[in-house]
Amino acid sequence: MTRIRRLAAAALHLVVRSEPAHQVCPNCNVDFVPALTDFRCPIDGWLAVPPGEAPAPRVPHRGTAGLGLAWFVGVVAFALLAHALYG
Ligand SMILES: [Zn+2]
Repeated sequence: MTRIRRLAAAALHLVVRSEPAHQVCPNCNVDFVPALTDFRCPIDGWLAVPPGEAPAPRVPHRGTAGLGLAWFVGVVAFALLAHALYG
């Protein structure tokens, strides 16, 4: 009987997801989910936890930016080449 109850609870948990914990920034009154923003307010960076417990802020990887620049330069070079050949 307890196995059936446990399975039912697991199935219910799969269907009904619990709402993540929200927090309201005291400075700008914005409602945010600390688990999604590294425990920092997305507007002014206010820490929702003591400074010792906060993870280091994620910095975008520079390799990804370089890939975007490579695509942009390639597209511009192709457009100039196509314009010179067919213009
Ligand atoms: Zn704030």
